[in-house]
Parts: sequence; structure tokens; C-alpha cells
Amino acid sequence: MISLENIIKKYHRKDTETVALKDVNLQVEQGDIFGVIGYSGAGKSTLVRLVNYLERPTSGTVIVDGQNLAKLTPHQLRRMKKQIGMIFQHFNLLESKTIFQNVAMPLILEKKSKHEIQTRVTELLQFVGLEDKAKNYPNELSGGQKQRVGIARALASNPKILLCDEATSALDPQTTQSILQLLKRINKEYNITIMLITHEMSVIQQVCNKVAVMEEGEIIEIGSVIDVFGKP
Ligand code: ADP
Ligand code: ADP
Repeated sequence: MISLENIIKKYHRKDTETVALKDVNLQVEQGDIFGVIGYSGAGKSTLVRLVNYLERPTSGTVIVDGQNLAKLTPHQLRRMKKQIGMIFQHFNLLESKTIFQNVAMPLILEKKSKHEIQTRVTELLQFVGLEDKAKNYPNELSGGQKQRVGIARALASNPKILLCDEATSALDPQTTQSILQLLKRINKEYNITIMLITHEMSVIQQVCNKVAVMEEGEIIEIGSVIDVFGKP
């Protein structure tokens, strides 16, 4: 589903060059919950941002769902990006919009009909357990509830892939549990491939089947979670 081949990513800022990724190779299969773990600065964020083309590699190939992203036309790239949902550590919700409007945003951008938006958003809010919060604003919700809104919004376009960038890092342990359970359901019930990045081994052990361990822009270990970390 996702294949990164010989990826090098360098950032240039003024006179300094940072090599964020040094020859990274990895494969994520359809149906995986693939974890990327490492300390801050290891290159995790850069890695997931390559998958939805928020970043372009300096060299190397990014293949998503059989397509080389560098070879797509702008139109094809937009269509590909709809296949990829993303959630964030700080949720990235629009504070001036209601929960309903936040979840509806991708559908509004796709110019879906009012009726279709109403039906889909209601279904998504039910799925994440927030149907009673449709008219509330983000600042009226707990952290866990805000992340559920983020998840509903990420699922709105029916993606094949969900990218999670430290999605539970701002949450307490109990709320983290409920969000991880929800990610498992999304993987199972909707057959969505998940790639998640975290600095917490417990997150990997609870939900992932595969893991890549990163250090200073390199993958230093990769394989099934049991092979890499042993039994939990
Ligand atoms: P992680 O997600 O593991 O914390 P990142 O991918 O955010 O790692 O960062 C990897 C390296 O690339 C770090 O040294 C970071 O400072 C650098 N970096 C990340 N984004 C940028 C950017 N937009 N411009 C310059 N350097 C960056
Ligand atoms: P909080 O952020 O307040 O700790 P949670 O994020 O755990 O709360 O849950 C938010 C709401 O979603 C609660 O009303 C809870 O009952 C409901 N909920 C929790 N887990 C699920 C689930 N797996 N499916 C649907 N709804 C759920």
C-alpha cells in the first residue's frame, strides 16, 4: 500500500543543511497498523509527510496504492490525497466552526451535496460516539473528544490510508486507550491501513502489527512488533 524506496530528504535553511532522512526503505502492506517510533528529531514526521506529499523527497521514490507520486498529474495527485486521511497531536480543528462543520469540511471542499454531507457527517459522528456534540465548538470538548472529531474528519473522504502524527501524545493514558481502540476498529471494520508515529513504545505494542525504529534519519530496526520488541 505504501512503499518508500531509497528516500533521502534534506532541508535547507539559510546556510545549514539538515539531512532528515538518510536512505530510508520501508513497505506498509494493505491492512497493516504500521508504527514508526523514535526520539524527537529522528525524522518520523518527515517520513509520514512524504506519504501524503506534504513533503517531496530530495531523492528516492514514494509509491502509494501502486502509484509513484512524483509521476502523477496535479489532478491525479488531488485524487490520491483524498485516499489519505491524517490526524495530529494537537487535533488541528477550526475553532470558529462547529463539530459538524469541522467534520464536513473535506466534503464541502469536494462540493458534495447538502444531503450527502448531512448523512455522511451524522454517520461519522455516530461512529466516533459524538452525535450529541454536532452543534458544539471545539473548545467545549475534552482532548479525547477533539481527537475523535479529528478522526471523523479524516475518515470523511473514505480514505484507504490513515496517517497519525503523535495522535495520542497530548492525551492522558485512559483517553489514549479509547483512541487506540477506535483506531483498531477503523482498521478492522473499514479495512483502512494505518501508519502511526509515536515516541511511546506502549502505543506500538497495543495497536501495531509492524514497527520501524528510527534514529537520526535512519531505520535501525524494522519488522513485526513481536520480533522487534518481544511479547508485551
Ligand atoms: P520527528 O518527527 O522524529 O521529531 P522530524 O521529521 O520532525 O522528526 O525532523 C527531522 C529533522 O529534520 C530534525 O532535525 C528537524 O529539525 C528537521 N526538520 C524538520 N522539518 C524541517 C523543516 N521544515 N525545515 C528544516 N528542518 C526541518
Ligand atoms: P474523554 O475525552 O472525555 O476522556 P473519550 O474520548 O473516551 O472521552 O470518549 C468521548 C465519548 O465517546 C464518550 O461519550 C464515550 O462514551 C464515547 N465513546 C467512547 N468509546 C467509544 C467507542 N469505542 N465508540 C463509540 N463511542 C465511544
